[in-house]
Amino acid sequence: MKSEQELQRFIQSLDGKGYGGYKALKGTYLCGRYRLSIDHIQADPYAPPSKARLTLDHTTTAIPPVLIDSPSKRIAVTDFLARAFAAALSGLSASCPESRCISIDPCGQEILERTAVRITEHELEVRLEIELPAAGRRIQSRTAADIFRRALPRAVENALLYSAIDQAALARHMQLFLDQLDLRRQLNERGLVAFVANGAILPRESGASDKPLASGAVPFQSPQELEVSLTLPHRGVVRGMGVPCGVTLIAGGGYHGKSTLLRALERGVYAHIPGDGREMVVTRQDAVKIRAEDGRSISRVNIRPFISNLPGNKPTDRFTTANASGSTSQAANVMEALEAGASALLIDEDTSATNFMIRDSRMRQLVPAHKEPITPFVDRIRELYDEHGVSTVLVVGGSGDYFEAADVVLLMDAYIPADVTERAKAIAASASDTKRISTDSPPSSASLGRDRTRTFLRSGFVRGGEIPRCKAKGTHTLLIGKEPVDLSGLEQLVADSQTNALAAMTEYAIAKLLDDRLPAVEVVARLYERLEGSGLDLLSPYTSQPGRLALPRPQELLAALNRYRGLQVREAKAGG
Ligand code: ADP
Ligand code: MG
Repeated sequence: MKSEQELQRFIQSLDGKGYGGYKALKGTYLCGRYRLSIDHIQADPYAPPSKARLTLDHTTTAIPPVLIDSPSKRIAVTDFLARAFAAALSGLSASCPESRCISIDPCGQEILERTAVRITEHELEVRLEIELPAAGRRIQSRTAADIFRRALPRAVENALLYSAIDQAALARHMQLFLDQLDLRRQLNERGLVAFVANGAILPRESGASDKPLASGAVPFQSPQELEVSLTLPHRGVVRGMGVPCGVTLIAGGGYHGKSTLLRALERGVYAHIPGDGREMVVTRQDAVKIRAEDGRSISRVNIRPFISNLPGNKPTDRFTTANASGSTSQAANVMEALEAGASALLIDEDTSATNFMIRDSRMRQLVPAHKEPITPFVDRIRELYDEHGVSTVLVVGGSGDYFEAADVVLLMDAYIPADVTERAKAIAASASDTKRISTDSPPSSASLGRDRTRTFLRSGFVRGGEIPRCKAKGTHTLLIGKEPVDLSGLEQLVADSQTNALAAMTEYAIAKLLDDRLPAVEVVARLYERLEGSGLDLLSPYTSQPGRLALPRPQELLAALNRYRGLQVREAKAGG
């Protein structure tokens, strides 16, 4: 291992040379308290930044073992340290401007399992990106030297040593994360889909910012009828609204906070950082947001429970299209969510296809059942829960057609929900002239059961024997080879690093798991099993961004693959 002095001398000797001279820096250096490994050097100043790791012994960081003695605690602590390191870098930007050349995975409002910081039995490792400085295409060794001599050591001192970090904040971060996990576990025991604590701040700063609305936010308050109290290991007793399993409607006038509540529930599948406002908004892990997504590609999905008799006799039990309509896309999204194991669906009328959601009595009279391919969701929502145990939380401000089917009807009034179930039921029972006529249009009887047979064929991915390189572009585009996959319909994907992980997971699955026999749900289950054993680092060889991975849910992985336009699907034979 080389010394810090050697690194400095080396950098000085490069001054003014061509940028390629940096290549020689690759290697590991002992720098005081930590080891610095420079793993990858960018080819030129405009290429993606160079990659480096800092490794410290636990004896150096002195993080108490009790804070890192379980996988969950390590997720919380590594998430905290990644944030602390980013904060240290930005704090240094005035006194050490070269610190701006260093970056770490930027963390959003969610606490996620990440590769930016890794804790092993004996060590702590931080994964960084460094833009090696240049003047034109020449090496600027002065700034480069300062990066390693000043900025890195100071950031380490401020962010990674237990004596220097905000210990109370770290404890809060970890305890909150553990509480959220415990709360999510309690949802199942209590027969709840979600929990929203009294006092939670749901609205966000703006459509472009996920931070809490700073002023004028009305804190959440549960209707009495739905109020439950839960006891958490650290926070103790919390009170709030329990959304029960079954069918829940969120009704109310426009601009009264319906979509804001649903969005909070969508994000409740993740843990949130202290101060987010949604710390105690927790939803079942596998709840999936369903929306219309016209234009998406669909490969052999059984949408017959909702769509049949398409013009031209296009089969809908193995529906394939390169350009779905609003209703067929939403039907496919439901069926794929069920395939992916969702026990709850979250739907907002704002992003739904009206004809998928309802058909009113006048329209039922105008268009006879045998001419209408769509069995609207309202006709199957009850069965989805009663026979398959899949709950739905639905925002509907524009139609009372769901009243009969609902277990709970909430009415949002100036951001505060009231339980109006009885009133809604009374209206549904009395309004004879506008009553839904569902009898004239017998709902499709095709089974809503979970399809575990769809198998993704290798030939859809591997061309000419080559496993395609997969890459993320931002949060909402995945590239499989040259083919872009549009993920903008996946509203529960929250970070670029999750999409990086989706790319690496796709490449891993193609290389190691797709065998033309294993159904897609099994491929995904096995991949997650392996990740549980080895951590996300398992994926590092498959990505150029080893420090920028965050764990997505299996639901998003399946959803991403399902949107790939080259996908080839076959159904596994029963029992085979
Ligand atoms: P709806 O879906 O009922 O039409 P939205 O959820 O879109 O209404 O909310 C309308 C506006 O009100 C948004 O700008 C949102 O940020 C804001 N808002 C939502 N909930 C609250 C709240 N609890 N306090 C303050 N403003 C809120
Ligand atoms: Mg809305």
